[in-house]
Amino acid sequence: MKVTACGDNLFQLTHLGAINCFLVREGDGFTLIDTSWPGSQAQPIMQEASKLGLPIARILLTHAHIDHVGSLDALHTALPDVPVAISEREARLLSGDLSLDPSEPQGKQPGAYPCKTKPTRLLHEGDRIGSLEVVATPGHSPGHVAFLDTRDRALIAGDAFQTLGGVAVSGTFVILFPLPALSTWHKGLCLESARKLLALQPSLLAVGHGRMLSNPQPAMERAIRVMEQSLAKEERKQSRVA
Ligand SMILES: [Zn+2]
Repeated sequence: MKVTACGDNLFQLTHLGAINCFLVREGDGFTLIDTSWPGSQAQPIMQEASKLGLPIARILLTHAHIDHVGSLDALHTALPDVPVAISEREARLLSGDLSLDPSEPQGKQPGAYPCKTKPTRLLHEGDRIGSLEVVATPGHSPGHVAFLDTRDRALIAGDAFQTLGGVAVSGTFVILFPLPALSTWHKGLCLESARKLLALQPSLLAVGHGRMLSNPQPAMERAIRVMEQSLAKEERKQSRVA
């Protein structure tokens, strides 16, 4: 795994040049955000944490897609006492329940990679876990969350944005790396969540796919405009059909 440090507290671990998970330094150890691809990634993640000198104290999940929870079961087997947290809504997807609530936009069924591991904590908007604040960002998946480091406003945004192949809001088709767009549940909510993240005035954007970006606000604004234009175009097309 390739390790990229950003300051003293944030480390990006990259698998195959495209799939990121993160170690965030806290007083009691590392918070691991997401768990990379299934199979062999549990050992490298634990090795990198120990090379950096701290144990993994807890695991947080942005959402239940295969490239974010893939090695959760293997990590949980190796570290059975380490707490695991995911949003209450996304926990249903993690358990394999793909049903939508009547209040949610119907249509495309959300995807998930069900795991045996049961979360020990269910997260909600505004919760604090160490230095990190939970930001509900539905759209890419129904219960997707981002994490804002309140020490320096670094934003670990999961798949709400991507930077690989160009900075884009989830759901925007990026020809060089279309995976996040293909697995996106609802583009309208992605746009709302992207605006919410921009309003947090992050100092750094860290995402599931692509490099970390400091002073990301201009690039986030541009990506939001692209998504706005693409949704407006789709709406025009639909109103012509209707
Ligand atoms: Zn995803």
